Amino acid sequence: MLLACLTREVYPEKAGFTLELTAENFNSTISQVTSSAYVLVEYFAPWCPHCQRFKPQYERVAALFNAEPKPAPEVLVANVDCVAQATLCKRFDIKSYPTMLFGHPENFAGDGKHAAKVPHKENSAEGMLKWLNERLGQNHQLSTDTTYGHTYNELGEGLKESPPERGKSPAPAVFNTRVDLPDVEKATILSFEYMFTGELVVAHNRRPFVEWVQLLAKTHPLPRCRAGSKSLLAELDVLWPRYNGSTPSPRLRTWRVCGKQADALREWGSCKGSLSVTRGYSCGLWMLFHTLAAHSAADGGAMWMEGVRSFVSAFFNCNECRTHFLEQATTEDAKKVQTKRDAVMWMWATHNNVRAPRHLYVSI
Ligand SMILES: Cc1cc2nc3c(=O)[nH]c(=O)nc-3n(C[C@H](O)[C@H](O)[C@H](O)COP(=O)(O)OP(=O)(O)OC[C@H]3O[C@@H](n4cnc5c(N)ncnc54)[C@H](O)[C@@H]3O)c2cc1C
Repeated sequence: MLLACLTREVYPEKAGFTLELTAENFNSTISQVTSSAYVLVEYFAPWCPHCQRFKPQYERVAALFNAEPKPAPEVLVANVDCVAQATLCKRFDIKSYPTMLFGHPENFAGDGKHAAKVPHKENSAEGMLKWLNERLGQNHQLSTDTTYGHTYNELGEGLKESPPERGKSPAPAVFNTRVDLPDVEKATILSFEYMFTGELVVAHNRRPFVEWVQLLAKTHPLPRCRAGSKSLLAELDVLWPRYNGSTPSPRLRTWRVCGKQADALREWGSCKGSLSVTRGYSCGLWMLFHTLAAHSAADGGAMWMEGVRSFVSAFFNCNECRTHFLEQATTEDAKKVQTKRDAVMWMWATHNNVRAPRHLYVSI
């Protein structure tokens, strides 16, 4: 009864079933959930490809629990956009996307450390429901009706258009030979913005930060981004002292690596997706990685590899993307990357590999 007030009926403008939580409504919403009921919250970033593919799966679970008649015990299924609600995600110490927390309402008090983390492998509606059923001692079934919910349709149908058939060799990437420099620049700026909104600029990430900035300073195709990276390196010992455990100064947060702010940049060009949330940043990052490889010095392959691997490992916090990429970046082939040519070729092969069906469409 109580959860009914919190979900669709009160939010008729929301076509999906997942309740969107914000810093303003989080505490008041959770405090209205009866103590015997449960709360499931997904913390996501709209740019994270795995979060995008997961969204329709999550909607199916939300449809089961948030729509009337609600199964018992009640579970409020909600989500938080960690780009729009960075402070809220910081409060729950969210370091990678998607992260799902589950528990009684009181488990979400303070930093939510008493809420259970849903294991990453539970990234399909079926897997997640199995995990929830075990916890709840229930045998709930998902609806087979997959037509409900605007978010389900938009993403579920939109994303169904492109998958290559399973078992077939990966479709060659749709590569423009022309690099879209404004997209490359936008991805560069966002690479910093998201590491700050994701609260990833923390003591143990100083080294990867330096390696990323060094790579940009040496190989970025745009002189203004190279210059911004070089002056950042020159001031770094002041902005983020070298000693163990040092924290960066707030001035680092507002550093304009290319002299521009992300929201001052135009919309995505070649990386514009058919849906507002698709392509964009992840596409721009690939283009940036390719471009950095192409602008490396003849013997700069190892440095490129180090910078890109460090960046992905410390600052690209879309869970499964990072895992898949790092699996490849630690192979024997990756260790052999020494020259610019090695880097360019490795990048091509890896990009194609990530586009392979086993990576793109099986895991979620
Ligand atoms: C590190 C990383 C790991 C990822 N891992 C996964 C994963 O495991 N599973 C998953 O589903 N998604 C993953 N993604 C997201 C996924 O790869 C795509 O970025 C996303 O789905 C958008 O795909 P896309 O078709 O727009 O093209 P993308 O694959 O994003 O390609 C972007 C653009 O790169 C450009 N490009 C290609 N080659 C070159 C070149 N040689 N020089 C210059 N530019 C070039 C092309 O213009 C192309 O359109 C990952 C993204 C990143 C950055």
